[in-house]
Amino acid sequence: MKSLWNDNEAAQFNDELGLRVYTSRLLGRDPALVLHGGGNTSVKITEKNILGEEEEILYVKGSGWDLERIDRPGFAPVRMTHLLALARLEQLSDPQMVNELKTHTTLASAPTPSVEAILHAVLPHKYVDHTHADAIVTITNTANGLERIQEIYGGSVVIIPYIMPGFDLARDCALRFARDAGPDTVGMVLLNHGIFSFGATAREAYERMIDLVNRAEAYLQRQNAWTLPRPAPAHASAAARRERAALRRTLCDHAGAPLIVSWQDDAKSHAFAQHPHVQRIAQQGPATPDHVIRTKRLPLLGRDVAKYVADYRDYFAQHAAQARAPKTMLDPTPRVILDGDWGLAAVGRSAKDAAIVRDIYDHTIDVILRAEALGGYRALSPRDLFDMEYWDLEQAKLRQGGKPPMFTGEVAVVTGAASGIGKACVESLLARGAAVVGLDLAAAITGLSDKPGYHGIQCDITDAAKLNAALETAVAACGGLDMLILNAGVFPAGCRIEALADAEWRRVMQVNLDANLSLLRETHPLLKCAPRGGRVVFIGSKNVPAPGPGAAAYSASKAALNQLARVAALEWGGDGIRINTLHPNAVFDTGLWTDDVLRARAAHYGLSVDAYKTNNVLKVEVSSRDVAELAAEMCGPLFAKTTGAQLPVDGGNDRVI
Ligand code: ZN
Repeated sequence: MKSLWNDNEAAQFNDELGLRVYTSRLLGRDPALVLHGGGNTSVKITEKNILGEEEEILYVKGSGWDLERIDRPGFAPVRMTHLLALARLEQLSDPQMVNELKTHTTLASAPTPSVEAILHAVLPHKYVDHTHADAIVTITNTANGLERIQEIYGGSVVIIPYIMPGFDLARDCALRFARDAGPDTVGMVLLNHGIFSFGATAREAYERMIDLVNRAEAYLQRQNAWTLPRPAPAHASAAARRERAALRRTLCDHAGAPLIVSWQDDAKSHAFAQHPHVQRIAQQGPATPDHVIRTKRLPLLGRDVAKYVADYRDYFAQHAAQARAPKTMLDPTPRVILDGDWGLAAVGRSAKDAAIVRDIYDHTIDVILRAEALGGYRALSPRDLFDMEYWDLEQAKLRQGGKPPMFTGEVAVVTGAASGIGKACVESLLARGAAVVGLDLAAAITGLSDKPGYHGIQCDITDAAKLNAALETAVAACGGLDMLILNAGVFPAGCRIEALADAEWRRVMQVNLDANLSLLRETHPLLKCAPRGGRVVFIGSKNVPAPGPGAAAYSASKAALNQLARVAALEWGGDGIRINTLHPNAVFDTGLWTDDVLRARAAHYGLSVDAYKTNNVLKVEVSSRDVAELAAEMCGPLFAKTTGAQLPVDGGNDRVI
């Protein structure tokens, strides 16, 4: 690992807090040091308060901030004199500690200071950096971890045996540091947890962190425990979407909420799931207690969810009985699944949560395999991990952000999603928390959104093989399917029946009708597994109730599609699947309607473009977004008791009314 310090970049930060921001971001840039909100940093600055008195302030990372993206407001200013006085107490409960930290900041709008604030305060150095570096947790999660750390660092670090984060750890660190730190001490290793470095400048503390972690990596290299063998391409079973969706349903039922189950198809994940000793090495615990709230203590091996949940209940009952304060059981379902055939799945309440679990477990695999090469991975005891998982201050991480959006944990497929109504549907569903798979012929589909819950697949839905492959990919990426928006369609140029060629008729039928039958047939077993019941929204057309001359193929295809929707509503109601249809009209903000076409059509009716766009009963313009918002709501609780409905979105049409 290299120092990322850059004089030009650093020059943009010319004060003490600014440089604290800068090197915190440098730490955050290296996932082998800091992952997803892990780690924390601080700087001690002497300032004048409003009375003109000098005061020493600890600027410490606020909770909810990520080091990689932290900025000045991410650091909470806490009065040092109070923090040092707290450190001398015999005892301080968690709620008391949080209260003291919050009430002794000097800024009303500051974030809640890190729970490790007191620990930062007791270290007598200006800049303090803390990470859960992979190399350190690898070495300390082995039988002789303590001896190895002594061998690597000698007197340059103070060593702290494992204690759960919080007041007791801060107090213990203060005592040991006062006793053990010497003139050469540049850091502190917390066994089974992570490492601190410190210095007089931001650069010194940061580069000491890099140096300390490099010494650990070099040690692993000398022990032949750093470079892992390239995973052999493991066998992966494809075409399992129905079984995967059924497994997700079982997980959701136990969790009491929809979940994203994201299967990883890389060689490393498969090889680990098929590791001959997976039972021993993956059934101990995470690499650092900081991860337990995200990954849970243990992955599910195989697919027996009921047994996992029963074991989890036992684990909870056993340790909760010994806990100091009463505990409420968390969702008992796994967050990581290791299956010999399907590989590794990351499970989360949202696509973002699943992505965090995936990243953390990717590092966990390396830590476990390297610790194995070093003599054997040995995680913390179940008791220690339980205390961390059920620590109120840790659980707060799961509650951040308040009430989750409506479709959190649910999965939608939208066809014709690269532009117009389809693209707007993707946005409306993502905004409501769903993971969304967009299908389209256009290559632009893959880059439509960079949200973690979005997957774009270029696909011709009239090609059965490609459609099946796309559904396979969608279910592998998200676990199952809850909502389907049938939007893809073609609107050919005007043509009267006497001139309508068979080939043109068939092409329109193929896209607007036949492809949707295939999609319905192939997604039915998936929608049937949706934990809140499947939902399908058909994007129909005003042409169904009120056809126009010159659009025979289009109108006939949409009318047939409409009957298909009605029959599906009748057939699938028993499976809890709701089918509803929207009939939009005159939606002009789509790829179909260029300015030239609009002007020509308006002129054809002797209207201005504006009058043409609002040529309806309400005299309003109908946008793609209007249609998409209604399509999304049709999948939500407002329409929970509605199926087989047809709703116009057309500003009112006198032929339809
Ligand atoms: Zn930590």
